[in-house]
Amino acid sequence: MLAISTLSSLARAAGTKMRSRQLVWFRNDLRVSDNPALFNARENSGVIIAIYIATPRQWLQHDDAAVKIDFWRRNLDSLRATLTQLNISLYYFQVETYQQIPSLMASICQQWQITRLHFNQQYGVNEQSRDQQVIDVCQQIGVQAQSYHDQLLLPAKSIRTKAGEPFKVFTPFAKQARQQLPESFNLLPTPAKQQFTELARLPEQLELNELSWPPVTTAIQELWPAGEVAATNRLIHFCEQRIEDYQQNRDLPAVAGTSQLSPYLASGVISIKQCWLATTHYCERSDGVIVWQNELLWREFYKQLLIDYPQLSKHQPWKPQTDHIKWRTNDAELRAWQQGETGFPIIDAAMRQLLQCGWMHNRLRMITATFLSKHLLIDWRLGERWFMQHLIDGDLAANNGGWQWCASTGTDAVPYFRLFNPITQSRKCDPKGAFIRHYLPELSELSDKEIHFPAKNRPDTYPLPMIDLVAARQRVLAEFKGLSRDRSRHRNRQ
Ligand SMILES: Cc1cc2nc3c(=O)[nH]c(=O)nc-3n(C[C@H](O)[C@H](O)[C@H](O)COP(=O)(O)OP(=O)(O)OC[C@H]3O[C@@H](n4cnc5c(N)ncnc54)[C@H](O)[C@@H]3O)c2cc1C
Repeated sequence: MLAISTLSSLARAAGTKMRSRQLVWFRNDLRVSDNPALFNARENSGVIIAIYIATPRQWLQHDDAAVKIDFWRRNLDSLRATLTQLNISLYYFQVETYQQIPSLMASICQQWQITRLHFNQQYGVNEQSRDQQVIDVCQQIGVQAQSYHDQLLLPAKSIRTKAGEPFKVFTPFAKQARQQLPESFNLLPTPAKQQFTELARLPEQLELNELSWPPVTTAIQELWPAGEVAATNRLIHFCEQRIEDYQQNRDLPAVAGTSQLSPYLASGVISIKQCWLATTHYCERSDGVIVWQNELLWREFYKQLLIDYPQLSKHQPWKPQTDHIKWRTNDAELRAWQQGETGFPIIDAAMRQLLQCGWMHNRLRMITATFLSKHLLIDWRLGERWFMQHLIDGDLAANNGGWQWCASTGTDAVPYFRLFNPITQSRKCDPKGAFIRHYLPELSELSDKEIHFPAKNRPDTYPLPMIDLVAARQRVLAEFKGLSRDRSRHRNRQ
């Protein structure tokens, strides 16, 4: 850190009359519109400076997927171009983990003589602890640090039962949330163009291409174009063309019936309020609109849960008793699931969609997650991890919530005895086998009937079913029943 006297002499040497300097720290809010941190920096009428800090080792520790990290890179590029038009410079830095951020931040603030730091909140425990350390270090050097709610429709911990408790079941949560939501949201405007300010280059500063980015195929990049314009176009197109039929089409993976906005929401290229507002602005109220809004509320539910229950950030089940389930260890079976070689076409096609696109349809996430955690009785955390390592929309709250729902270890989980039969589900959600044929061309010649469970005409290149579904079902039910028996025995002994 530079001494105060050095800073004053630097300012004198520059011979400039200092305006207040507002530092905006971008994280997973990679946009200029409706961005509370950026908006509030402008409100303070000083010069806005923007930074992004890459943390490659932390990303690895958090299992962030290469496709997602590459999506950040491409969106940062786009964000910088937009900010440049406003004369706001975006500077890049890199440290290995969150632990080095407080001292880097202090150094940046001191060298650039920052008055105030602005950032939008993140809710994982590691992110919260990092942010607290940054706030503390800022306080020590006389910089005000302000954080804002950005990822939620309603403030954290504001949706409560009559007893003041967090909701543990989605439906009453959603009902209460709808009651509390305003009729409309006032989206925050993009700051006006500011006067250009030249800053001294810092020794720690890097160019975007000097940060550690993983390689990703252009095919995946083309599926997910970067930038706010791409995100907004996707939202408007969905609202104008697809939302009406969302209720009918959302469970059909062969149909482009969902918004595919999840990567943009997860990286903050579009705000949740922009999405909600679009449902009232671009569409008539219909069943499709209400059902889609409910999906946005599922996102809200899982984020609010993550805030209330820090154990969810620490690989712990929400129902602690389910930690006594004897999950099976079987590397070969886990690998077959990961690579889409289970012998159950809908599972294999879904897992290959994940590998090829960095994304998987929601219904298929449910079927594949149930297959791993219930039919194979393999620890849901291994599946959660695999998803996180491959999803472009990987989001701690939604991924953890989805996995714990499927594994029956979470708050509002599916009852343990309800399993998605992959063959029945396949017939329902992909009746003509169009989705399966796309990802498993080796099965393309099979009839619409046989494609869901190839028998007679199964090509040699396609694996035999890895398990007997009936036996697998009995195995997992016995395990969960045993768990409740153990609990009642335990209670009786007390
Ligand atoms: C096992 C499992 C893991 C999941 N992991 C993730 C994840 O890492 N990141 C993620 O964003 N979603 C996750 N989901 C939720 C859901 O599958 C995706 O949000 C959805 O498939 C994204 O596609 P879409 O944008 O077309 O969704 P749409 O159907 O258009 O829904 C709109 C938005 O609502 C939100 N949303 C929809 N469904 C859910 C849900 N069930 N839970 C939370 N938010 C939801 C997403 O932000 C989505 O973009 C997971 C679900 C399961 C069952």
